[in-house]
Amino acid sequence: MAGLAAAARARELGAEPLVLEKGDRPGGSMLLSSGVIWRHRTFEGFRAECPAGDPVLQQVIVEQLDEGIEWLESLGAPVLEHETGNPRTIGKRFDTRGLTDALVRRAGQVSLRHALGPGPGTWPEGPLVLASGGFHVRLAQELALPVRGNPWSTGDGLDLALARGGATTAGLDEFYGRAMPAGIPIEEAEFVPLSQLYGQFAEVVSEDGTQRFEGEISWSETNLVQAIARWPGGRAWYRVHEDRLQERVRERTVADMIERARAAGAVVREAPPFTSVLVQATVTQTLGGIRVDSRSRVVGVENLFAAGADAGGIATGGYSSGLAAALVFARIAAEEALS
Ligand SMILES: Cc1cc2nc3c(=O)[nH]c(=O)nc-3n(C[C@H](O)[C@H](O)[C@H](O)COP(=O)(O)OP(=O)(O)OC[C@H]3O[C@@H](n4cnc5c(N)ncnc54)[C@H](O)[C@@H]3O)c2cc1C
Repeated sequence: MAGLAAAARARELGAEPLVLEKGDRPGGSMLLSSGVIWRHRTFEGFRAECPAGDPVLQQVIVEQLDEGIEWLESLGAPVLEHETGNPRTIGKRFDTRGLTDALVRRAGQVSLRHALGPGPGTWPEGPLVLASGGFHVRLAQELALPVRGNPWSTGDGLDLALARGGATTAGLDEFYGRAMPAGIPIEEAEFVPLSQLYGQFAEVVSEDGTQRFEGEISWSETNLVQAIARWPGGRAWYRVHEDRLQERVRERTVADMIERARAAGAVVREAPPFTSVLVQATVTQTLGGIRVDSRSRVVGVENLFAAGADAGGIATGGYSSGLAAALVFARIAAEEALS
């Protein structure tokens, strides 16, 4: 999202940007996502949800996201829904294939299988926007958890910024992720439909029964997934009473989510009136990263910008839309780089 949006905006402003893409396709995690680009309804809501995030960066998102979404629509990105379905948030759901295609058309040249790294000789001429999607692959390895995001974001942007004198934000061990059925291979196309997003309606205990989640589960369940990630095997049982099976999480019921997992071969145990599903914490995106200012400038380094998951410290302590942050700060990065 961030790389393509920055390039599209830069081209609109008259520049000739080059997008270097490590993977074999454009779109990164954006292409795999649900495509909901959203913000908290108010700045106060953002602060309450992500109390350790940078308030200056949060304010920028609240003020500029709506314009960013209009811009995407003006580029021909197809909107599937004009509401998020969550009363706390405002935003739109895009078709991610159409969104990616619209941005690629406007971004111009995208050089695939071309990784930018901190090594010598790889530093291009002119302003550079780091948009390598954070380091969820590296964090997942450290935590011995599966990746639920693009397979290429290993932290190259972060390494490059640090090698050039940049700084990091707090929360480098924090991530946004989902509970997924444990013990079965999960294809990229199943990342969204197989997510098990009903911890709030379940009793949550570790696989070996030694841990139980006692805290309040946030609506995004990000705090629950991060807790499970640190339990043995990063796994938990979600034990659901039959009275809760018809509870809804947006368009799906708890029963829908369990049946989807069962059909995929997940470990599901019946002991009426309870159904228990074995889940695994997975890592979608890191929340800490490179320290940037409100103009997407990497603090302490000339002519270097960062956007998207590379730019950390926005959702620290909670959860906010990664697509929104990427969109807003990518547009700013392009404008600032060309100013
Ligand atoms: C299943 C799923 C559902 C999601 N649902 C939502 C949602 O509904 N709403 C929301 O806001 N967010 C959602 N997200 C998160 C969202 O996709 C990310 O926040 C967003 O894509 C981050 O944008 P980005 O540009 O930082 O990273 P990405 O979109 O991942 O792009 C990073 C790109 O950098 C490339 N790259 C990595 N290293 C290098 C290198 N060294 N050189 C060159 N290129 C490199 C990668 O290959 C990738 O293409 C979801 C994610 C997933 C996986």
